Amino acid sequence: MIERARVVVIGGGIGGCSILYWLARLGWSDVALVERSELTSGSTFHSAGLVGQLRNSLSLTQMMMNSVDLYRTLGAEVELETGWREVGSLRLASSQEHLEELERQAAWAETFGLPMHLVSADEAQSMFPPMSTEGVLGAALLPSDGYVDPSQLTLALARGARQRGATILTNTRVTGVRVENHRVRAVETDQGSIECDVVVDAGGIYAHEIGLLAGVHVPLVAMAHQYAITKPTGLSRDMPTLRDPARLVYFRAESGGLVVGGYERNPSVWGLGGIAGDFNSRLLDPDWDRFAPLFEAAISRVPELADAEIVTLINGPEAFTPDGEFILGESAVAGFWVAAGFCAHGIAGAGGMGQLMAEWIIEGQPSLDAWVLDSRRFGPQYRSRDYTLIRTDEIYATYYDVKYPGHERQAGRPLKVSAVNARHRDLGAAFGEKSGWERVNWYESNAPSGDESTRPDGWAGMLWSPAIGAEHLACRSSAGLFDESSFSKLDVTGSGAAAFLERLCANSVARRVGAVTYTQLLNPRGGVECDLTVTRLAEDRFRLVTGTAFGHHDGAWIRQHLEDDSVVVDDVTSQYACFALWGPRARDILQPLSESDLSHSAFGYMSAQEINVGAVPCLAVRVTFVGELGWELYCPSEYAVGLWDSLMSAGQPHGLRPGGYRAIESLRLEKGYRVWGSDVTTTDSPFEAGLGFAVKMNKGEFIGYDALERAGEPTRRLACLVLDEPRTVVLGSEPVRFDGRAQGRVTSGGYGYSVQSSIAYAYLPVALVEPGTRVSVGVFGRDVGAEVRAEPLFDPKNEKVRA
Ligand SMILES: Cc1cc2nc3c(=O)[nH]c(=O)nc-3n(C[C@H](O)[C@H](O)[C@H](O)COP(=O)(O)OP(=O)(O)OC[C@H]3O[C@@H](n4cnc5c(N)ncnc54)[C@H](O)[C@@H]3O)c2cc1C
Repeated sequence: MIERARVVVIGGGIGGCSILYWLARLGWSDVALVERSELTSGSTFHSAGLVGQLRNSLSLTQMMMNSVDLYRTLGAEVELETGWREVGSLRLASSQEHLEELERQAAWAETFGLPMHLVSADEAQSMFPPMSTEGVLGAALLPSDGYVDPSQLTLALARGARQRGATILTNTRVTGVRVENHRVRAVETDQGSIECDVVVDAGGIYAHEIGLLAGVHVPLVAMAHQYAITKPTGLSRDMPTLRDPARLVYFRAESGGLVVGGYERNPSVWGLGGIAGDFNSRLLDPDWDRFAPLFEAAISRVPELADAEIVTLINGPEAFTPDGEFILGESAVAGFWVAAGFCAHGIAGAGGMGQLMAEWIIEGQPSLDAWVLDSRRFGPQYRSRDYTLIRTDEIYATYYDVKYPGHERQAGRPLKVSAVNARHRDLGAAFGEKSGWERVNWYESNAPSGDESTRPDGWAGMLWSPAIGAEHLACRSSAGLFDESSFSKLDVTGSGAAAFLERLCANSVARRVGAVTYTQLLNPRGGVECDLTVTRLAEDRFRLVTGTAFGHHDGAWIRQHLEDDSVVVDDVTSQYACFALWGPRARDILQPLSESDLSHSAFGYMSAQEINVGAVPCLAVRVTFVGELGWELYCPSEYAVGLWDSLMSAGQPHGLRPGGYRAIESLRLEKGYRVWGSDVTTTDSPFEAGLGFAVKMNKGEFIGYDALERAGEPTRRLACLVLDEPRTVVLGSEPVRFDGRAQGRVTSGGYGYSVQSSIAYAYLPVALVEPGTRVSVGVFGRDVGAEVRAEPLFDPKNEKVRA
């Protein structure tokens, strides 16, 4: 037993061992791992061991690629066989939509630097002889995928960690986590306590229970996942692994036979009421009834399975999360980190995940953009086990389904609704969901005024309505009214608030009362951690407004930097409704309702005032995300219906239309306004993102200042492209090619109804960002011509905004 370690990792599965390995490899040897039983006795020992790398984002895919880089060399490094076999993988398309999905994924892979190419059904069969080509329209081959022996790999990581000085304590159960002043101090075990600065909860399906020891909710549930192993029939061990998404099944070679697994439509949750503390080196009873439909589907792809003898049906619990991605990062309790919820990708992801976690713990920031995995993406609704379960259940049951862009999840809805939700329903709203909020995508009642001929081709036109264009154009010609009540609102108050925010923000925000500032909050690497507006409400009071999904994350980032009690951070999202009234007639609509002077000279752009709108007290903020004159009107929630109704009726004679988020998206693209998470991420600097205007390098030091200064001139920049074909609309991650080679990837794109163009944004080398440069964009296997344009495409002089 040891008395102290800098970091204590809880859990000796693949996840915990990889984190320990990487902490030691990156130079922290004063680290320990505690495992209540033996290493690999949790979910790891019964894994099927498939390692696939392609995910739907650059950073996730890069993490998987980092795993493979490690698995290739780890065995030799620590002199222990890991069973890594780089046999490649095949993914079949047995429907037109799956074929289109493969074309789309192949384009992503090109931009991620991951080898992947499309092959015919016959070519696939030549690599995986037992498969039938019946109904196969094509396949994708990823030559660097493979499979590994999960237990051997875990032991190799453990050995690598020990060789670098890390301590591993098996048969040591964590019974408590000592937290003082919201900070971790020690881990209590049945062998004594270990003082530490950092605890990592890598407890697999127990991560939720371990989290509770520190007062942290880890939203995951255990699902029973099954695969069969067949008796050897002389199949080659070097066949690629095979996935047939339309049949929900996967295969890999195993000692001359096959491993056959899949994702059932009727997932089986397990251990919701608590899992026995001695569930180690154990499996669940085989559930043949649940597995039978999958096995039948597998037979239809690999006919010889009909006569195969099944040696065993493995049924093991695995931790799944409500959105199907890992849960990583520090929690609200300082020093308590989580690395769990690997959703049946724990073996594939562990190598890269351990590296990312170790960088994050040691350097304060990972080298990859970890937002999609960040534990702070989940709101407090996930404290509910039932809600976590239904959201997770939907993810598992639809795992292999093709998701069209704009696909909306259904489980657990509606959860959070705006105060004027009934008004939206009366107007025929098509709702989307973000962080539990029901938000209007568009109003079907606007569709008859739209233009069906602007429907984008292919996938982009699937979940679409002519209403989007009608709402966009009404906002440009008259006015649009948008319900933005879901926006996250954080109040930062106290005598130290101004100085505190100046240290966090790259722009100067401690300006006169009433000033509104658009700013980024940078991490120490100079990447954009938050992107928001700051309104100074009083000398000691600031209102920060950020995206619906980012409040939890941004709030955590801000709180993490608090040093004393001179500053308080409050999430006031639910207290205020917010309606944005934007368009050239916005003033004509609002002025008659208010006794305040709304003229440009009395109420300038980027300023805020308390005004009345009828009897409703509002904070009116003159900002825009669509490039038009107008205000965001924040009122206490109980006034929301009255405010909405009076704006709607005052707007009627002026041609006002209510609008949804899809219209906002199209409007903001024309103006080149960036979206955090896609156009700007934690690994992009504001100068690369074209946000240099919001950075004040001469205002005094702020977090990220040193990194920006060191970085010098950017070598790549976010550029605006217009495609040659207006009906071809990009969906994100398409390659942007120059001279036939991918030079960048689309961060976001869509159709601009005013400029009548298909718009895309992409980071390109500076040599290519000159307006007029011809490039092409890879869209569903086609190379579509495009041109770099000066931005913004709409109202470049900003005359409308300042009207
Ligand atoms: C049937 C099946 C097939 C799978 N196939 C694949 C695949 O092909 N490819 C892939 O990538 N992934 C696959 N997976 C997923 C993969 O196995 C898991 O993601 C991975 O093993 C999880 O690792 P872990 O370290 O998070 O958890 P675990 O391996 O479960 O480790 C957690 C450890 O924490 C310990 N622990 C718990 N509580 C305490 C405590 N209080 N004190 C100390 N220690 C504690 C446990 O004893 C356990 O050893 C599969 C999973 C299943 C179930």
